[in-house]
Amino acid sequence: MKQDLNNDTDDKRHSVLVIDDSEDVHRLLQARLRQENIDLLAALDGRTGLAIAEQDSPSLILLDLDMPDMDGFEVLRELKDGSSAHDIPVIVLSGLHSPADKVVAFDLGAVDYVTKPFDLMELRVRLRAALRMSDLVDMLARLAHVDGLTGLWNRAHFDDRWAACISENNRHGRPLSVALFDLDHFKSINDTYGHPAGDAVLQSFAKLIKRECRASDIPCRYGGEEFALIMPDTAPEDAKFVCDRIRTELAALSWPAHPERKITVSIGVSGTDKSVAVTPEQWLEDTDKTLYRSKKGGRDQVTAIDVESGNMVEASAKAA
Ligand code: GH3
Ligand code: MG
Ligand code: MG
Repeated sequence: MKQDLNNDTDDKRHSVLVIDDSEDVHRLLQARLRQENIDLLAALDGRTGLAIAEQDSPSLILLDLDMPDMDGFEVLRELKDGSSAHDIPVIVLSGLHSPADKVVAFDLGAVDYVTKPFDLMELRVRLRAALRMSDLVDMLARLAHVDGLTGLWNRAHFDDRWAACISENNRHGRPLSVALFDLDHFKSINDTYGHPAGDAVLQSFAKLIKRECRASDIPCRYGGEEFALIMPDTAPEDAKFVCDRIRTELAALSWPAHPERKITVSIGVSGTDKSVAVTPEQWLEDTDKTLYRSKKGGRDQVTAIDVESGNMVEASAKAA
């Protein structure tokens, strides 16, 4: 699934990997699919095809069954068996006509089957249909991870990505920070101005976070009036700087529905610039405690810690 919140499938350019031992087939497809809105990648054997599939994650694979060394069935088996490319749709191309081959190919996870010598018009429409279906599946997967009110990633997405970011940090020592945001006295906004006014605040705050964070950051609605921002490759000093800016901008906003009432947020940040042995749960618990310090300290403030030592951290020099 694409990790871009603004991912729009309508104008997406697809890449299609052709795995076939015949150079003629590659040449033919290059020539005849030129008009389609796709980039063609080529592999002349199964092993190379698997490597390209994992590395470049094409939108679709056209796979020849009849190849020396590693045949298409074997490629399909490896592809579907735990490879990171397992959800890429595969259309099988084959000169083998027996129904049993088709059954095996479908059982192994192929989405379609085109018999060689293929009719190019037929291949083209089957290709388009498979790409449309894969776009739909992507869109559904994405919707299951997006919060309906704010358009930010939801809690399920946060949980997935947080675990992945922690393991990146453990393996490669990449810096990592996370921030938890909790809007101040939010219940009284609902109580005083009504639930729709509360919703509007949540939506505006979501927009503000999205605008202020980097493309590689992962902004999420954590639940209710709580938000989370995962900041890969970001030390806690820099994360505090970003969060201070978000806090200041929110406090400066004026609200048409309640001009007399400002909105503020309390923030807890924790992070590291090296590999640390902290579980995802423990790290979040520490961040939550840090957020609580901001609340206790009078709200409308950011508290940041180094997650390993627990020491307070000041914003980076950029803030000066
Ligand atoms: P504090 O400063 O201590 O965080 O106080 P608070 O009032 O913000 O915290 P509390 O947890 O008491 O209240 C959170 C409120 O957020 C209560 C709940 O009704 C409201 N809320 C949660 N989700 C939504 C939502 O989707 N829309 C609206 N309008 N309100 C929501
Ligand atoms: Mg709360
Ligand atoms: Mg609150």
